[in-house]
Amino acid sequence: MIILIYADNAATTKLDIEAFEAMKPYLLNEYGNPSQPYSFSRSTKKALRESRKIIAECIGALPEEIYFTSGGTESDNWTIKGFFESNRRTIITSAIEHHAILNSCITAEKMGLNIKYLPVNSKGIVDMKMLANDITDDTSLVSVMLANNEIGTIEPIAEIAEIAHKRGAYLHTDAVQAVGHISIDVNALDIDLLSASGHKFNGPRGIGFLYIRKGTPISAYMDGGLQENKLRAGTENVAAVVAMAIALRKNCLLIKENENKLRNLENIFLKVLDENKVEYIRNGAEHHIPGNVNISIKDANGEMLLHRLDLKGIYISTGSACDSLSMQISHVIKAINVPDDYANGTIRVSFGRDNTEEEATRVAETIVDILHS
Ligand code: PLP
Repeated sequence: MIILIYADNAATTKLDIEAFEAMKPYLLNEYGNPSQPYSFSRSTKKALRESRKIIAECIGALPEEIYFTSGGTESDNWTIKGFFESNRRTIITSAIEHHAILNSCITAEKMGLNIKYLPVNSKGIVDMKMLANDITDDTSLVSVMLANNEIGTIEPIAEIAEIAHKRGAYLHTDAVQAVGHISIDVNALDIDLLSASGHKFNGPRGIGFLYIRKGTPISAYMDGGLQENKLRAGTENVAAVVAMAIALRKNCLLIKENENKLRNLENIFLKVLDENKVEYIRNGAEHHIPGNVNISIKDANGEMLLHRLDLKGIYISTGSACDSLSMQISHVIKAINVPDDYANGTIRVSFGRDNTEEEATRVAETIVDILHS
């Protein structure tokens, strides 16, 4: 019998059981529309209020600065497109952002904005000199991710915020990979906007939030009703919001414990590769999201590895994919200049809080077996 091992927690995570239990009443019995004035809606109104408070506390924000969205993609789109109405016309972002940012920037460009893309070094850290050079009085927004979804690199957001603010620009960070995994204080980091997604920290899929610091000028993303302080219309997904808050609070309380566990799993995994003399480059910075191991294996084929692991019940991700004509290397792996003979063999193993030492060993041993077969 094949025992399944899920090691793709950067893609999505298993829903926390307490979060699941917390959402049930709002799916079955407490279904009053929170915008209605009658007493049946009191409990859903209260649930939204309390969830907003829990989430705000987890990132050092005020409850009224948390806006519920359908996830990271929406929060990113809202930010990039919401600055259209500013009289400044330039957005600075990085070359290794998630496509939710990069593709929103393409749309913003078509609408007449200028977009500048900062390069990164071989560890994936944005070029701060280039930021200082490129930023002008025309820059409305600097958007740099808190942690990269492929290689896990954590960016120096406080320093980036300082440069942005000196020139009167606002600072957005896509923190989808970071929230619930590293401690975040929006005031200590001086962040104006922050995107997060419930399913990356054991909450449900299809729910997220955008933190918007009070006073930050951003236009409404959804036109319709008056929900979310008139900025994001649409009846709230109360059950998912409640579950997201429970899951986030639980992960935030366990941050240190989870981090120690996940660093240990990373080491166990890499030790097996080293003992078996696998030639690989570890991608990403020393300061990275716990549990993320992105490696480029010499002369290997990442996509083939993914499929052969799949046949053995092991789920990971790749940094390259074949189309009908050629190998497509991800924009992140290209940006950090992984040598050609390694780039095709890029895989991302992302351990989560439910993985065990035995699983980390088995994933690595199975990779070794495949490479040697
Ligand atoms: N930003 C980053 C860095 C991500 O990793 C992801 C998801 O992989 C997203 C945005 C999109 O989030 P969602 O799946 O909630 O739309």
